[in-house]
Amino acid sequence: MAELQISAVEKVYPNGFKAIHGIDLEVADGEFIVLVGPSGCGKSTLLRMIAGLETVTGGTIRIGDRIVNELEPADRDIAMVFQNYALYPHMSVYQNMAYGLRNRGFPKDQIEQRVQKAAGILQLDGLLDRRPRQLSGGQRQRVAMGRAIVREPSAFLFDEPLSNLDAKLRVQMRVEIKQLQRRLGTTSVYVTHDQIEAMTMADRLVVMNAGVAEQIGTPIELYDRP
Ligand code: ADP
Ligand code: ADP
Repeated sequence: MAELQISAVEKVYPNGFKAIHGIDLEVADGEFIVLVGPSGCGKSTLLRMIAGLETVTGGTIRIGDRIVNELEPADRDIAMVFQNYALYPHMSVYQNMAYGLRNRGFPKDQIEQRVQKAAGILQLDGLLDRRPRQLSGGQRQRVAMGRAIVREPSAFLFDEPLSNLDAKLRVQMRVEIKQLQRRLGTTSVYVTHDQIEAMTMADRLVVMNAGVAEQIGTPIELYDRP
C-alpha cells in the first residue's frame, strides 16, 4: 500500500543542465500515472530519480512515509520494467524471474512459490525453462513484468516498455499491463512518448515539456474538454 509524493523535485545534471524544474505530483495508492511528452522533456530523468538511478538535486520523493531519495535503490521497494527488457540471456525464464529475490536472500521455497504464481498470472507456465532468445517479443515483455511482480513492490515504474514491440502486439500489451496493474492494485508510473498509449492507459496523465509538468489530469479532463 503506497502513495507516491513528489514535492518540488528538481534535477540539475553534473554539467549544469537543469532537466527538471520543480515538479509536484501526488500519486494515490493503486493509481496508474503516465508521464507523457516529447523526447528530451525529462520523463526518464524523473522516473530514474524515483527509482534511485539518478540523484535528486532538489525536493523530496516519498513513498508511504519514507523519503525514498534518502534510501539505497535496493531498499526502495520499487520495481522497474525497462524498454529493452534487461533479461539475462544465459538464464532461463525461471532464473530471470527468481534473480532479484535470490539476491535479496529470499528462501528457495518462497521464490518458487512467487515465480510460479507470477508465471500463472502472465501465462508463462510452460515457458519457464526457455532462454529469452527462445521467446517472442511479447513473451519477453511478460518475463520482464514477472521480474517486477515477484518482488511484490510498493510501486512499479515503466520506462517505455512497449516501444520495441510491433504495433499489433503493442496494443495487446497495453491492455495486458493495464489489467495486470488493476488486478494487483500496485501504484504505477509509466513513461511513454506515445499520446494514444498514454490516453488509453492512464488514470491520470502528466504532460511534460522542457522539465515542467504542464498539465496534470485524467484523459477526459485533458483531451475531451471543448
Ligand atoms: P525524456 O525521457 O523525456 O526523453 P530525459 O529525461 O532523457 O528526457 O532528458 C531530459 C533532458 O536532460 C534532455 O535535454 C537530455 O539531453 C538531458 N540529459 C539527460 N541525461 C543527461 C545527463 N546525464 N547529463 C546532462 N543532461 C542530460
Ligand atoms: P531487480 O532485483 O531490481 O530486478 P536485479 O538484481 O535483477 O534487479 O538486476 C540489477 C540491475 O541489473 C537491474 O537494474 C536490472 O534491470 C539490471 N539487469 C538485469 N539483467 C540485465 C541485463 N541482461 N542487461 C543489463 N542490465 C540488466
